[in-house]
Amino acid sequence: MELRKDPITRSWVMTGDDPAESSPRPESACRFCPDSRDSTQVIAALPSASGWSARSMVHPTPLYHIEGEPGRRGDGIYDRMSSVGAHEVLVENPRHDRQLWHASDDEIGQFLRLAAERILDLKRDPRIKYVSLYKDYGPNAGQEFSHPTSQLTATLFVPRRVLYELRAGREYFQAKERCVFCDILAQEERQASRVIEARGDYVALGPYAPRVPYETWIIPRNHEASFERTGLSKPGLRTNLAALLRRTLQRIRTVTESYHLVLHTSPNSLHPSKTLGYWKTIDDDYHWHIEIMPVLAAKARSYTFKEVYYSPVSSETAVKQLREAKIDG
Ligand SMILES: [Zn+2]
Ligand SMILES: [Zn+2]
Ligand SMILES: [Zn+2]
Repeated sequence: MELRKDPITRSWVMTGDDPAESSPRPESACRFCPDSRDSTQVIAALPSASGWSARSMVHPTPLYHIEGEPGRRGDGIYDRMSSVGAHEVLVENPRHDRQLWHASDDEIGQFLRLAAERILDLKRDPRIKYVSLYKDYGPNAGQEFSHPTSQLTATLFVPRRVLYELRAGREYFQAKERCVFCDILAQEERQASRVIEARGDYVALGPYAPRVPYETWIIPRNHEASFERTGLSKPGLRTNLAALLRRTLQRIRTVTESYHLVLHTSPNSLHPSKTLGYWKTIDDDYHWHIEIMPVLAAKARSYTFKEVYYSPVSSETAVKQLREAKIDG
């Protein structure tokens, strides 16, 4: 497998003929349960009275490898490089049946802390430009393991969607000297029609222009570009974020089982890139957040209708329904 860059959209694509795709291995005993004999190398773990509360492991079939040279090179007008980076599985909970929406706020808080520690650690590598944390859950979202897990990839490039956000955030800041995310949050809280719930300094809302029905963002009220800085410095806030994340996922699960979740945080500003010029104001113009994209099986075909997002439920209607959803508490 290798990375190739689309010269028009400038997105990197991982491509190649993967033998694993044609003969998927059946999942035997869970390799992420504490007593597994088939587990991969543990990278980091947070201790608890009974052993560990959350831990990170090498992905059993990693997309990115930490060893080797990126070998970034031209191919006529094209760019390519080998898939150097890191790919980890974050085990959210030692218990096989304890998904985020069933876990205690303390357990979710530990998972968030581990995520923050791992992101910070990977960013110490000057080659790494971005660290993505994501979770695919459910049969229609490409879920990989049944154990409660998220995944983390560290890449030598910034993913396209984040790059769009960084550029847009910088342009907005240049024009107004304000953070676009702070401005969105202020207007949403004033209008209140798309706010699902606020918990301490965190707000869950439906975006004004959703890409999919029931799309939900979780944004901190206090301006901060980097999730890992928040996650490590303010343990009190972590419990509020944990509760809001748990309750929001419970709400979404009243609509559909499958969803994608992704954390958008600032790129590696410990080692600024000379070619990408968004570093100077990044602490002012970027604002970390979580995006949740529910997958509604019946409507999946419409999403890319004519390559314009087509979302047949308005955010106002979706938010009303999610707000009123019966959840456990
Ligand atoms: Zn398990
Ligand atoms: Zn902001
Ligand atoms: Zn985002």
